[in-house]
Amino acid sequence: MFHLDGLAGDTIFSKGHGYTYDDFILLPGHIDFDVNETELETKLTRQITLKNPLTSSPMDTVTESKMAITMALLGGIGFIHYNNTLEEQAEQVRQVKRFKNGFIAEPIVLSPQHRIKDIDEIKRTLGYSGIPITEDGSLGSKLIGIVTSRDIDFVQDREKLLSEVMTTDLVVANEGVSLEEANKLLRSSKKGKLPIVDKNFRLVSLISRTDLLKNRDFPFASKDNDKRLLVGAAVSTREADRDRLDALVKEGLNVVVIDSSQGDSVYQTEMIAHVKYHYPELQVIAGNIVTASQAKHLIDAGADALRIGMGAGSICTTQKVMAVGRPQATAVYQCAKYAKDFNVPVIADGGIANIGHIMKALALGSSCVMMGGMLAGTEEAPGEYFYKDGVRLKKYRGMGSTEAMNDGGAKRYFADRERIKVAQGVSGSVVDKGSLLSYIPYLIQGIRQGLQDIGTRTIPTVHKSLYSEELRFELRTHAAQAEGDVHHLYSYEMEMV
Ligand code: GDP
Ligand code: 5GP
Repeated sequence: MFHLDGLAGDTIFSKGHGYTYDDFILLPGHIDFDVNETELETKLTRQITLKNPLTSSPMDTVTESKMAITMALLGGIGFIHYNNTLEEQAEQVRQVKRFKNGFIAEPIVLSPQHRIKDIDEIKRTLGYSGIPITEDGSLGSKLIGIVTSRDIDFVQDREKLLSEVMTTDLVVANEGVSLEEANKLLRSSKKGKLPIVDKNFRLVSLISRTDLLKNRDFPFASKDNDKRLLVGAAVSTREADRDRLDALVKEGLNVVVIDSSQGDSVYQTEMIAHVKYHYPELQVIAGNIVTASQAKHLIDAGADALRIGMGAGSICTTQKVMAVGRPQATAVYQCAKYAKDFNVPVIADGGIANIGHIMKALALGSSCVMMGGMLAGTEEAPGEYFYKDGVRLKKYRGMGSTEAMNDGGAKRYFADRERIKVAQGVSGSVVDKGSLLSYIPYLIQGIRQGLQDIGTRTIPTVHKSLYSEELRFELRTHAAQAEGDVHHLYSYEMEMV
């Protein structure tokens, strides 16, 4: 006789124990479709839909403009951190909103009074030497020449003025040119750089042949109505951050995260009210929270999405230090279960260490995941790679680590006014993961296969089957977890998980 094996989500996650992702497993479903028929479209907030459920955390070792641009190009979204000045954060948002695939929006520019040695320095520190020359050396000033390696490679005297060596016979394109047309011009002129100018011949941007050669299309990019990339950013609950918010909105911010380690506070509800009053169009993600009653307070206050997680992050010591938090799987399940009745999506934030965790977070009712440690080792994360014991690493630190708090991160922990700061995070390093351009597609393919294995094609149908109790779960003993990991090998190699 047929019976439904395993347990319903509610049976496991409403019974008193707090569970995390590794404590349980999803039972397989029936497959009657190809993996390519799966669809990862999902809600980030009430109003914003993304092509995939992946977001990058507002942390100073994870998300600045490069991360946010690439996440959005690949169909997710990045949240710019606020461990910086208002101007710096606004500039990061501006760079994402101004990004045009294939165009260098803010090229390095020099004036004719600069010398060859200045280009040597740019080459040494930034790696390129094709530099447009404008009248006063700034972008937006009249273009008068260009210097490339061909102009200066064999010149002995590096003190020589650029005015003496620059190429003035210019091939340019007008503002508004399509990438396709620009491509044609570069091909026919055989040049390496194509400056873009306005009708007064003022430099607007630059196109590089090397970029066009490796140019990819990003058909799933997350964009607003003006076809600009979507971007999010974090602010704290403090009064002073209302100015920060104004500056970010001015640059075209699409969604704000009100960043707090314990989001169920009057400071947070006041900030939500403030945003909703002044910027009704701006989507607000509130948090962080881990219980249904916290979810209620933030939804009542007007949140458009909830960020779930307290103490689950890889760099995080909150549960140890404060004795407060919740294991992440239970937190996600409980908050999502409450929020679904209000159509408020939840974002599972922290503790995602592999593709399986992403699948599990989605299966527990979250619509998106937010990652810190998973993305901190990619090329697009801020900071330089370094070597330790022969391994290529990047720095990754908690925003509540002593180091980050000293740089300004204490706002998240209500600790910025305290003289004695208790750290809620650590500072460490993660291994090189290469570029997001290959890592994100890899994660996406993994999620697709996970969806196929449980017999569902889309994220909304996973949620449906969770609440209809067709989706079945089982708890795992320690031995079962060990069995589910690689075991009994003398040695093995694992590239990425
Ligand atoms: P170059 O010929 O030495 O300038 O170098 P390439 O054109 O081969 O490569 C330059 C790379 O740096 C391209 O991928 C550019 O998109 C990138 N890049 C980023 N910012 C700038 C900039 O301000 N100027 C230039 N020339 N390249 C930039
Ligand atoms: P990860 O993806 O590395 O497991 O976790 C990232 C998440 O941890 C962030 O999105 C944020 O919610 C949380 N977080 C960031 N810094 C700290 C910290 O210093 N302490 C705590 N408790 N959580 C942090």
